[in-house]
Amino acid sequence: MTNLRSLPSVEQMLQTEAAAYLIARFGRPLTLDAIRFVLDDTRARFRSGLMPDPPSTELILAQTESQLTAWTKSTLLPVINASGVILHTNLGRAPLSDATLRAMDILSRGYSTLEFDIESGKRGSRLIHTESLLGKLTGAEAALVVNNCASAVLLILSALANKKRVVISRSQLVEIGGGFRVPDVMKQSGAKLVEVGTTNKVRLSDYKTAAAEPTALIMRVHRSNFKLVGFTEEPELKDIVEAAYAAGVPVVDDLGSGALYDTAKYGLAHEPTVQESMRAGADIICFSGDKLLGGPQAGIIIGRADLISKIKKHPLARAVRADKACLAGLSATLLHYLKDEAEREVPIVKMMSLTLKQIKGRAEAWAAELGQGQIVEGESTVGGGSLPGESMPTFLLSLQVKSAEKFLRALRKNNPPIIARTENDKVLLDPRTVLPEQEGALLVGLKNLLKKA
Ligand SMILES: *Cc1c(COP(=O)(O)O)cnc(C)c1O
Repeated sequence: MTNLRSLPSVEQMLQTEAAAYLIARFGRPLTLDAIRFVLDDTRARFRSGLMPDPPSTELILAQTESQLTAWTKSTLLPVINASGVILHTNLGRAPLSDATLRAMDILSRGYSTLEFDIESGKRGSRLIHTESLLGKLTGAEAALVVNNCASAVLLILSALANKKRVVISRSQLVEIGGGFRVPDVMKQSGAKLVEVGTTNKVRLSDYKTAAAEPTALIMRVHRSNFKLVGFTEEPELKDIVEAAYAAGVPVVDDLGSGALYDTAKYGLAHEPTVQESMRAGADIICFSGDKLLGGPQAGIIIGRADLISKIKKHPLARAVRADKACLAGLSATLLHYLKDEAEREVPIVKMMSLTLKQIKGRAEAWAAELGQGQIVEGESTVGGGSLPGESMPTFLLSLQVKSAEKFLRALRKNNPPIIARTENDKVLLDPRTVLPEQEGALLVGLKNLLKKA
């Protein structure tokens, strides 16, 4: 019987041409690690009798390569989103515009004026870069950008309401998603939650009564991901603001999505816009950068200069500040709105504004290219915790396969992964959310998999 001594040593393995090739690709330390790992594993298996003969040097090197590939393979991959969900939270929400990507790329490659004032040659503020754009777009006196809207809420409450009362309606104590619960965040900030109204009804008098005692803020939270229907009542924001003003209490409006445009234009329900909230007189408004705005992940806080100034000075502001790539990208995205070119440039707005004819044309072209599939009517949704229950009519490519579930899995394992859905054992692909530059890869993947299915 052969024994373990016939296994090559690490040194011997390193002499081979194959090892030199692995070192060139993966670097020496990692390749050494992998060789040792495979040799240890081989010895263990040989001793336990799982392996009758020690493997050849070639086989060990092949296993080393597999190990190196596994160690260095990214799990964060681009995918093709054919699900028809425009702001798919699990798929990274908003794809970015070309100008946004260019701005992020240029800013990240080198040094920048992130916190540098060209005039004086002294330290500047990272917040000025977005502040004037946000002011122009919304009319807000001041603005600040943080990591995301969840941290915006935490920061606002920590800075303005620590150990103080914050009045909020019971109908707005919502869970936004991923365990982000408004009442928990409020507690985390040290604010004292004062719940008013009931699950379905809150009246202006409820707010007035609560705000009669010393109160730091009245908070309104947009019910982003569910609808309240039936026997319900809620005062309008402008009336809450009026009552709050009389009581000397500022109003914070957490809009969540914070569209700068009217979603009703695309056949969807009306999502409250940032401009409306400003017009209603909210003192502080916060919203996400990567929901209906279609920019990079960010939390945007706008509003009264005195309050924003307090927020900027809070220690948490530093902990949740936005980085240079985010600020550069967000500015570029905001500029699309300022130049009234969002429909042409911001990918998610473009997706919403596609006509049925355009979508049908793409689905038909796919079917023609694949030589199979039917075009059926269907629905796309906005997702991303926006516009619950709302959908837009679309056309889908419907594929008949042996097992839809198996095919869906094979699509996910494609390179790049393709995310589709099934219905009645058919595989459905929505052209609305597939980026035009991904169509080629989508069709190559589909052709290959359909051959095997
Ligand atoms: C989505 C949402 C948030 C959280 O926003 P992120 O940018 O995901 O952190 C907060 N509040 C509301 C109302 C939301 O809809």
